[in-house]
Amino acid sequence: NGLIVSFGEMLIDFVPMVSGVSLAEAPGFLKAPGGAPANVAIAVARLGGNAAFIGKLGDDEFGRMLAGILTENGVSTEGITFDGGARTALAFVTLRADGEREFMFYRNPSADMLLAPHELNFNLIRSAKVFHYGSISLIVEPCRSAHLKAMEVAKEGGALLSYDPNLRLPLWPSAEEAREQILSIWEKADVIKVSDEELQFLTQTNNNNIIDDECAMSLWHNNLKLLLVTLGDKGCRYYTKNFKGAVDAYQVKTVDTTGAGDSFVGAILCKIVNDHSIIEEEGRLKQVLRYACACGAITTTKKGAVPALPTHSQVLTLLNAPPKRTRRGFSLR
Ligand code: ATP
Repeated sequence: NGLIVSFGEMLIDFVPMVSGVSLAEAPGFLKAPGGAPANVAIAVARLGGNAAFIGKLGDDEFGRMLAGILTENGVSTEGITFDGGARTALAFVTLRADGEREFMFYRNPSADMLLAPHELNFNLIRSAKVFHYGSISLIVEPCRSAHLKAMEVAKEGGALLSYDPNLRLPLWPSAEEAREQILSIWEKADVIKVSDEELQFLTQTNNNNIIDDECAMSLWHNNLKLLLVTLGDKGCRYYTKNFKGAVDAYQVKTVDTTGAGDSFVGAILCKIVNDHSIIEEEGRLKQVLRYACACGAITTTKKGAVPALPTHSQVLTLLNAPPKRTRRGFSLR
């Protein structure tokens, strides 16, 4: 299995013990591993793929706990460095009663922001068949330079570059800066995944949740092989040089959508790492996207991202289940 290296932040999410409250109202918090790039690495390993994570953690109990979670899940930690002077990042996250997610970050600066280019494990990066990253690591130096250097080395090594911006506006100095920086590395990526909200933010459109192809295609670039737009319980849309289309979501009992996007990305990377030509054949690509949508759906059925990331056999169970009857007839598969 080709190696999938995921680069970026890993942190502790503190999640309220009861749902539907604001951060101030929460009576207490449970700690959960978080950070989209780390979630993607675990998603890959759960599905049986070969995953490594690159990032910096605090040399503290939380940092060692997070590295332990990666190891337990079969993710290589040889690309992790520990900072003796800065703490592991913390984020307090709540899903309020109005459905909005509220974040409060403790990064002043946290260890992940201090990863420097000379600390990168270049041998690991060169051996990657897929190199995946987000945009949080672009926000401040020296992590920003480490991110850019790692992308460059991965590309030289022949890796496919995969980008999921994972917009977290509160971490940026301004919305303009976020948009500008997220788009500054746009044309380097071979595969890009954005959510419908990120698409609207990046293209500065507001289409009342209607994603039109023109809006998505305005983000197309010449080196891009695959653009994916995820739409939560409405599935996803896909765009390549030669074709475009949509794949429906699976109907499940959703409890918490955290990590659905990371699970979706992990599944796609697992499937294309050994055979990039899947992207060029619509039938095979749709099969992969159905698999990825099933992964995303399963991830929403349990609280937290990491505990909910599925194994390959759990995905097969959902894919082979008889289609559910809906009011309109049978749901599409
Ligand atoms: P994240 O919250 O991890 O940033 P995202 O916004 O990037 O997520 P989503 O669109 O929420 O990504 O989810 C990715 C995929 O997971 C969707 O395309 C869909 O297939 C599946 N999914 C997400 N939410 C649901 C849901 N409520 N029911 C069924 N499937 C879902």
